[in-house]
Amino acid sequence: MPQNGFGLANLPYGVFSTPDRSPRVGVRYGDGVLDLAEAFGETYFATATLNELMAQGRQVWDRERARITRLLSERAPSLVPIEDVTMHLPIKVADYVDFYASEHHASNVGRIFRPDAEPLLPNWRHLPVGYHGRSSTIVVSGTDIVRPSGQTKGPQDDAPTYGPCRRLDVEVEVGYIVGVGAPMGGRVSGAEFADHVFGCVLLNDWSARDIQAWEYVPLGPHLGKSFATSISPWVVPLAALEPARTGPPARTVPLLPYLQEGEDWALRLELELELNGETVSRPPYDTMYFTGAQMLAHLTVNGAALSTGDLYGSGTVSGPEPDQRGSFLELSWGGTEPLTLADGSQRTFLQDGDTATIRGTFTGAGGELCSFGEVTGRILPAAG
Ligand code: MN
Repeated sequence: MPQNGFGLANLPYGVFSTPDRSPRVGVRYGDGVLDLAEAFGETYFATATLNELMAQGRQVWDRERARITRLLSERAPSLVPIEDVTMHLPIKVADYVDFYASEHHASNVGRIFRPDAEPLLPNWRHLPVGYHGRSSTIVVSGTDIVRPSGQTKGPQDDAPTYGPCRRLDVEVEVGYIVGVGAPMGGRVSGAEFADHVFGCVLLNDWSARDIQAWEYVPLGPHLGKSFATSISPWVVPLAALEPARTGPPARTVPLLPYLQEGEDWALRLELELELNGETVSRPPYDTMYFTGAQMLAHLTVNGAALSTGDLYGSGTVSGPEPDQRGSFLELSWGGTEPLTLADGSQRTFLQDGDTATIRGTFTGAGGELCSFGEVTGRILPAAG
């Protein structure tokens, strides 16, 4: 049994290729990848995204997971060594929405930007706040991130200027991937979460804080976010996450009925943010105020359609402790308290050449350590 977080309790799906194999669906097992197109020959495994498999629905997902488990445990099939594969963006992304569901993150941001006001805005405890992002700039882990340029204006500046972002940041998040859609005009309740959501990935919502701060009033994030969002290549099936389910946090206000179902999908995931190989934060996902099921219910409560390949992010995950903050905005408290790294250098926000990596683990069936792998990206200088 593999001891690296990719044992039988996990079995995440991804899309891989080698010089001899065109992009196709595989399952990660230990240090190898099981080529599902080769092993089973289903057409939904012989394609360059997970979308066809995801559209099949829960019964097929469960049947294939059982079949893969049997094959791996009984017949030791040959695997493609992980060092020989190239991983691809695992899904064709349909719509992309990002939420803001960490109470500690939202409170920290409120304190940094509005020090004299209540940290949480009046709507925050009543609904999972979110915005629509840009699906066409979602990239797979390992893709370099070019520092964005844009319009900024500091509080002391007389007029805005255009230039490279000076406050480039990460957001440590979990992404939910929709397998089965729903028609416009319908609603998907929190209780139907597991029939629609295929699995989860790690997500880095790269953020240009200076561009964001000037542009976001009154309609929310736009160019400060839309230049790139990275996701991990391995999609952990919801079935693997079952043992990581835990109770929701205590609430101080009652939720409307449509948000009362799906509270049982809080997840205990251990996340980690690394800068150039050094761990700078360990955000705990079980501190989130809303679950992925509640986010899905909110996303569709107005009759919005849901599609195979929709992706929604949890929002930055931050815990109550200073070393549990999931962004440099919070870790450096708005840039006023630089972090000192092991090599003696200091950081407020990301420099060119920096590599930011998010990792995630959870305890799966039988107490087995399970891994999400990682989502990583290196910052390249702004385009000339
Ligand atoms: Mn975000």
